[in-house]
Amino acid sequence: MIKDNLLNIKKSIPQDVLLVAVSKTKPIEAIQEAYETGHRNFGENKVQELADKYDQLPKDIKWHMIGHLQRNKVKFIAPFIHLIHGVDTFKLLKEINKQALKNDRIINCLLQFHIAEENTKFGLNLDEAISFISNQEFLELKNISISGVMGMASYTEDKSKIEKEFSSLKVIFEQLKTHINNKNSFKWISMGMSGDYKIAINQGSNMVRIGSTIFGNRQIN
Ligand SMILES: *Cc1c(COP(=O)(O)O)cnc(C)c1O
Repeated sequence: MIKDNLLNIKKSIPQDVLLVAVSKTKPIEAIQEAYETGHRNFGENKVQELADKYDQLPKDIKWHMIGHLQRNKVKFIAPFIHLIHGVDTFKLLKEINKQALKNDRIINCLLQFHIAEENTKFGLNLDEAISFISNQEFLELKNISISGVMGMASYTEDKSKIEKEFSSLKVIFEQLKTHINNKNSFKWISMGMSGDYKIAINQGSNMVRIGSTIFGNRQIN
C-alpha cells in the first residue's frame, strides 16, 4: 500500500518537484517500506520523534524538520538534520547557527511565511524577512544556509483562495531572492500537502510535504 501510494504520487508530480514523505506519528516499519522504494526524503514535526527515528533507521535518509521548532531543542537534531522548514525568528536562526557550528556543519533552513488568513499559523511577512536578512548580524551566521521559503495555505475547500495564498508565497520567494547573497542555494519553495499539493505545484512549488496520502490517515496530529 505505502509503496503504491508513494510511486503513484511520484508519477503524478513533475520530476523537478521534491517529495518529502511526512511520516509523523507513523511507525518505523512504515518508513522502512517507503525507504525500500528508494525514497530518501522524510519529514517529521516533533523533535523527540525525529531523533528516535533517526537512531533506528538507515543513515542515508534526509530528514526534514517541518514542525515548529523550539530553540532549546535545536541541539537534538543539529547533528543530522537535512533541512529545517519552519524558521520564523532571527533568534531561532542564531541558535541553529550555533548548534551547526558545534557540529561542524552547515544547516539548510527555509524561512516560513504566514500566507494563510488563519491567525494560528506561524510565520514571517516579507518586510520582517528582508529586515533580518539585511542585518549585519545575519551576514555573520556562517553555519546556516537559507535555501528558500515554506508556507501553508488555509484549510479550506475554496480552491481560488488556496491558489492566491500559494501564489503570494511564490511572489515572496522572488522578491526575497533579490536580497539574498547566495542566490544559487536559495531555490526551494516548500508548499503543498496531501489536500492541496496539485494547486501548489501549479503555483510554483518545487517541494511538497505529503503525509496521509502516502501513509494513511493519522490518529492524532
Ligand atoms: C502534517 C504536515 C504535512 C502533511 O500533511 P498531510 O495532509 O498528511 O499530507 C505537511 N506539512 C506540515 C507542516 C505538516 O505538519
